[in-house]
Amino acid sequence: MLKSSWLRLAPALGEVLLLTKASNTKRRQLVVGNWKMNGDLRENAALLKAITAGWQGQHGADVVICPPFPYIAQTVDALSGSSIMTGAQTVSEQEKGAYTGEVSAAMLADLNCKFVIIGHNERRRMQRESDQQVAEKFVQTQRVGLIPILCVGESLDDREAGKHLQTIARQLDAVFERVGKAVFSDAVLAYEPVWAVGTGKTATPAQAEEVHQFMRAQLGELGEKVRILYGGSVKAHNAEQLFALADIDGALLGGASLDADEFLAICKAAE
Ligand code: PEP
Repeated sequence: MLKSSWLRLAPALGEVLLLTKASNTKRRQLVVGNWKMNGDLRENAALLKAITAGWQGQHGADVVICPPFPYIAQTVDALSGSSIMTGAQTVSEQEKGAYTGEVSAAMLADLNCKFVIIGHNERRRMQRESDQQVAEKFVQTQRVGLIPILCVGESLDDREAGKHLQTIARQLDAVFERVGKAVFSDAVLAYEPVWAVGTGKTATPAQAEEVHQFMRAQLGELGEKVRILYGGSVKAHNAEQLFALADIDGALLGGASLDADEFLAICKAAE
């Protein structure tokens, strides 16, 4: 882990102050693995066994694994006895009833799931989830005591047009308008630039810090308390540099969560 220090960036990178973590940082780091639509019973069993074997005992970071819906029970079962928790990749914005194919927050809670990823960019883009639907999913998740991991992030076009902060503000405002800000004390945020997810491109430390600092400012009084993860091609080789930054409290991982060694290396870098 880098030593605590201030680093002033070159003017060409803008006016973002890169502050590395002070030893008294209060937010506990969190690493979330999003398996997306991958795995089967046999593969999952082997992956979960390797991960739990490599993450025994006390740790200085929290870890969550988000399998596809059919494997939530398998994951909860395999993780029992370990400190690793289970999450879901999405949830219905409805409470219950005639919504064929949907899975409610209460069902996830019933299975002992603890977290739900909300507003992942693949769902916003491919399933056309609106900001308002994302806000309803946030409501449903918290209603049953689950912790939402609210994802926000700009497209490449927005980034190139210099509109990235506007996009983040719009995505956050939709949820603030629905639930206020105070409930974010029981939520996690994730900044995932769309152009960095699954592409092998990672935001530079300055780009990530700029958005994380902006998100903290949007949260107002809670800004310093809420965990804000970074997601977008985080791997073992770049995790330590990102985790050393003051406003990054861990990572949301896609590809790297499917390989036990890579995943564990990132979890250990977060401690
Ligand atoms: C993600 O899907 O949330 C993600 C960050 O994917 P990847 O790590 O593969 O870029």
